[in-house]
Amino acid sequence: MIPLSQKDLGSDHEWEDSLRRFRQFLQIPTVSYQNRDDMEEGAFLLFQNTLKEHYLNSPDVDCFFPDPYQIIIHWKSSSGNTNKPILLLAHYDVVPVKEELWIHKPFGADLVEGYIWGRGSIDTKITLIGLMEALKNSQENGLTPNRDVWFAFAGDEETKSIAAKSMAAWFKKRNIYFEWILDEGGAIVHDVIPGLSEPLALVGVAEKGNVNWLITSESKGGHSSSPPPESALGQVSKALSLLEKKKRYTKLPFAVRDFFYYSSSLFPFPQNVIMANLWLFQPLLVKILKSRPLTAAQIQSTIAVTMSGGSSVPNVLPTRAWGIINSRLLPGDTINKGLARYRKILKDTGVYIDIQDPEEGCDPVYSDDRNGPAYKELELFHRSLEGLVDAAGVVPYLNMTTTDSKYYKDLGDRVYRFSPYLLSSEELDLMHAPNERLSVDNYKRVVSFYTHLLQEICHET
Ligand SMILES: [Zn+2]
Repeated sequence: MIPLSQKDLGSDHEWEDSLRRFRQFLQIPTVSYQNRDDMEEGAFLLFQNTLKEHYLNSPDVDCFFPDPYQIIIHWKSSSGNTNKPILLLAHYDVVPVKEELWIHKPFGADLVEGYIWGRGSIDTKITLIGLMEALKNSQENGLTPNRDVWFAFAGDEETKSIAAKSMAAWFKKRNIYFEWILDEGGAIVHDVIPGLSEPLALVGVAEKGNVNWLITSESKGGHSSSPPPESALGQVSKALSLLEKKKRYTKLPFAVRDFFYYSSSLFPFPQNVIMANLWLFQPLLVKILKSRPLTAAQIQSTIAVTMSGGSSVPNVLPTRAWGIINSRLLPGDTINKGLARYRKILKDTGVYIDIQDPEEGCDPVYSDDRNGPAYKELELFHRSLEGLVDAAGVVPYLNMTTTDSKYYKDLGDRVYRFSPYLLSSEELDLMHAPNERLSVDNYKRVVSFYTHLLQEICHET
């Protein structure tokens, strides 16, 4: 574990109080379920009320709670400034837990050997509370922002994202547009990227799309004692296998290209030379990236066969068989393009492919406009990290998962996805997994990062 550099903002006593507040929020079981009726509304209301109690009772702050799953906060700027507002996003729902797999209780917020254990400690009550602690610190220091600062926190990001869609509409209706938007996303990683020994801060400047393909086949059914040569489930299985084996949509998107460009000097020879000279080495680089699933996903639309089904009993032929492929789409690819591509492949196979739930699919979010100040705030993030981690650099990258920020993309000039904690590959694997936990050092790092960030916003002209 790399120690937190000494740039503490408060005394031990102040950190203890701050940590106690964070743990209180981890103890509220705000679990997200696909079915809204399964969600425990009381937990979400308790979260809102506790937030209000600790952070939102000062006159320079307005807050709105349209329902238990939406929190909108307005930190009002000094008058007379003409800077465009900014928006800071997070979510307070968490994915379900299997309690028997946890060493310490998932909603106990136990503090053990320098770690705070609990569902949501990484994803992402930490960024939400980090932002609120930063607001509190700024107010206690008598600071006022030189632009309006808005916060929007969702209670259903892990499932349907109804809250994010509603809150984006809320801003649109009031004609509130942002210069930049920051959501959860990339982290400061170490021991994750081969060839790089120092931590590197990855700021998502684009995100892959996400869609579930439903593959179905129908047949007459009947008794399994006299089956036809090919069953519906057999056909679906063949189709799934065919799609898995086909060449993927492959490209080197701008966000990935820029990652190499910005970070090439940090890598040893010969990686640095390859990365800095893509005009010559692009085919070689693509070949290297394709060789491992994690890096291949940076340059391909992925195909992951995740579910299938047929008859509900062993001795009856299915009248309908189905399979699901989860696909993460690369910038440049789209749901419509994918559908056309796969329909062509499956033509004459007797199976049918469609989007499982059109409301849930989303195209990649990215901008190819690199002539504008596309990465202007990377420098600001770099300054805000100073003294908190000895990072090799702050670089753009392609977010492999989707975030709520996609619903706000038309509301901001620039959208970033970055969570300012330092994670090893082991810690990255704790996200959505049993025994999710965050180090106290990371807690301090996140709060301090946002505090520095808000300070900069208060001091900018
Ligand atoms: Zn999350």
